[in-house]
Amino acid sequence: MPAEKSRILVVAAHPDDELLGCGATVARQSARGSTIWSLVLGEGITSRKGLGSPQKARALKKLQDDSRKANAVVGVKKLVLKDFADNKFDSVPRLELVHAIEEVVCAFKPDTVYTHSSTDLNIDHQIVCEAVKTACRPLPGSPVRHILSFEIPSATEWRFDSAKGFSPNVFVDVSRFLDKKLKALAAYKGEMRPFPHPRSEKYIRALAAVRGGQAGLPAAEAFSLIRSVSA
Ligand SMILES: [Zn+2]
Repeated sequence: MPAEKSRILVVAAHPDDELLGCGATVARQSARGSTIWSLVLGEGITSRKGLGSPQKARALKKLQDDSRKANAVVGVKKLVLKDFADNKFDSVPRLELVHAIEEVVCAFKPDTVYTHSSTDLNIDHQIVCEAVKTACRPLPGSPVRHILSFEIPSATEWRFDSAKGFSPNVFVDVSRFLDKKLKALAAYKGEMRPFPHPRSEKYIRALAAVRGGQAGLPAAEAFSLIRSVSA
C-alpha cells in the first residue's frame, strides 16, 4: 500500500517535512508510475527570529526555490505551497486549514494521503493530522481510500510519551531510494543539521535501518495507518 500507479498526496506542515516523513516512499512510488503532489501548509520562515521584512522575503523565496528543487528530486509532479505562519497553526481557524487541504484534494483526487502523526510534539503537526482527517472524511464518493501518518525526526520521537507515541504498522522497503531522499533533503540548504541532531543524514540512515529491522527489510520508512477503505 499504496498500489502502483496511485495518486498520492503528501500533506505537510513545514517545508522539508514532506521529505523527512516519506521522501523515499515517494521516490519509490514515482518510479512505479504513481502521480504525487505535495501540499506544504506553513511558510517555514515566520518562527525564525531577527529577520526584517526584506530579509524575510528573500529567505522565503530561497526556501520556496529549495522546496521545488527538493520535491523534483523524488519525482513530485506538483508542489503546492501555502503561507500559514509556523508554529502558530493553533491560532488559525481550523476551517481555513481544512479548506486549504480540501481545495487540493478536490483538484487532484488522491487515493492515498500521507501526513503527520497526531502524536508529534510539534503543535502544527498535530493540527495538520486532524485537519487532514476532516478534509478527507469518508463521504460517499470521496476519492481518498488510504490515510497514513509518517514520523518526523525531531518531532515524533521528542514527544516522550509512550502512551501516545508513534506506533508504526506499515513498512515500505526504501533500500533503493534512501539515497534519493537524502539527495532531496540536501537541496533544503540550512534545514539539515550535524549528527547527533535527528535531522541529520546519519540519524535518517539509522532510523531507516531500525524501521527496516522491525519488518525484515534492509531499510524502511514506517507509517501508522489512520484509515483504509477498499471499495
Ligand atoms: Zn514540521
